[in-house]
Amino acid sequence: SDHSFEYPLTPEVMDWTKLYPRFKPENEVKFCDIGCGYGGLLVTLSPMFPDTYMVGFEIRVKVSDYVNDRFLALRQDNEVYHNAGVIRTNAMKYLPNFFRKGQLEKMFILYPDPHFKKCKHKWRIVSEGLLAEYAYVLKVGGLVYTVSDVKEVHDWMVEHFTNFPLFERYDPSAEDKAAQVLIGSTEEGKKVLRNKGQSWTAIFRRVEDPYQV
Ligand code: SAM
Repeated sequence: SDHSFEYPLTPEVMDWTKLYPRFKPENEVKFCDIGCGYGGLLVTLSPMFPDTYMVGFEIRVKVSDYVNDRFLALRQDNEVYHNAGVIRTNAMKYLPNFFRKGQLEKMFILYPDPHFKKCKHKWRIVSEGLLAEYAYVLKVGGLVYTVSDVKEVHDWMVEHFTNFPLFERYDPSAEDKAAQVLIGSTEEGKKVLRNKGQSWTAIFRRVEDPYQV
């Protein structure tokens, strides 16, 4: 595979109209699905939040092409789905290129690929450096939703988010519409349900920087 990715030098020069032809520049992308896979979550969230722009980041070419085609097809048959799209990129490297500080309201990390070996820790989707980036692009009060069917990965995410000073574990209210569709929407979640497997969910809230208030 090729290791060059397209990404803007700064969020200000990012042209979102390529992704959303009806994009209004006064709007901003507010949701990001990290490692979106085949896009099931975005397909569910798009009509639930019709006024919110949302993007999936996916590193595999064929998979991101599939998601792109999926939204083009859905838009042909519906008035909705103009607010969702996918970018093929490495979500572990380029988040601050796409989003300004405090831009995002919600981030999703659903069924991230597990890597157990110690030498691979730096590839984990949740590491110290990445937590700092997630905290940077999320607004205060913004939420990170995580799900895994691997208990060790779930425990790892809970431990690291909870120990990070800019996040606290959060129990969403019944009105949190996004929290209710996490497991049933994504292709990986459906697979786990079919196999009668278990999924663990954890949600974290971006809190005020204790040193900046
Ligand atoms: N979230 C989806 C779901 O629940 O169905 C996909 C889960 S799949 C197990 C993990 C996905 O993350 C894969 O599609 C993989 O290509 C993608 N991925 C892994 N590392 C990534 C990275 N650094 N940047 C973007 N996507 C990544």
